[in-house]
Amino acid sequence: MSTSENYQENCIFCKILRKEEPGVNIYEDEHIACIKDINPASTHHYLIIPKNHITNAKVLTKEDEQLYDKMVATVDIIVNQLGLQKDSIRTGFHWPPFTTVNHIHLHLISPVENMSFIKRMMFKPNSSWFVSTDYVKSRFKESS
Ligand SMILES: [Zn+2]
Ligand SMILES: [Zn+2]
Repeated sequence: MSTSENYQENCIFCKILRKEEPGVNIYEDEHIACIKDINPASTHHYLIIPKNHITNAKVLTKEDEQLYDKMVATVDIIVNQLGLQKDSIRTGFHWPPFTTVNHIHLHLISPVENMSFIKRMMFKPNSSWFVSTDYVKSRFKESS
C-alpha cells in the first residue's frame, strides 16, 4: 500500500498501511483501505480506514467530507465483495474519549447475532462511546 500523507510513527494503522506491521488487507483504493480487525467481534469484522492519518470522527471537518463519504460507500463494496448478510450489519465509529487506535476507522461487523453481549455493548449504536455513520454525517451539515 502507498504511504499515508500524514504518517504517524507510533500509529499501528499507519504502520500496517506501510506494511511495517502485518495486517490482512481486504480492499484498497487510492485513498482508503480495509483491514481485518485483529480482535473480531463476530464472524466478520473489518476496519475501513483512510490512508491519510486523521485521529478520530470528531475532528473531521468540511474538507474531509468527500473522504468520509468514500469511507461509508466502501461499506457496500465490502458487503458485496464478501457476500455479507445485508440485514445483519453493524457499523460505526468510536467517539472520544472512548477511542482505541487514534487513527479514524469505520467498524463493519456481521452478523450481529454472533456478537457477544459485551461486544454488543462495546459497539452499541449511538451510545456515548460508539456513533453511527449518519450521526457523523449530520455533523458536516451543522458545521457548514
Ligand atoms: Zn495512522
Ligand atoms: Zn476500533
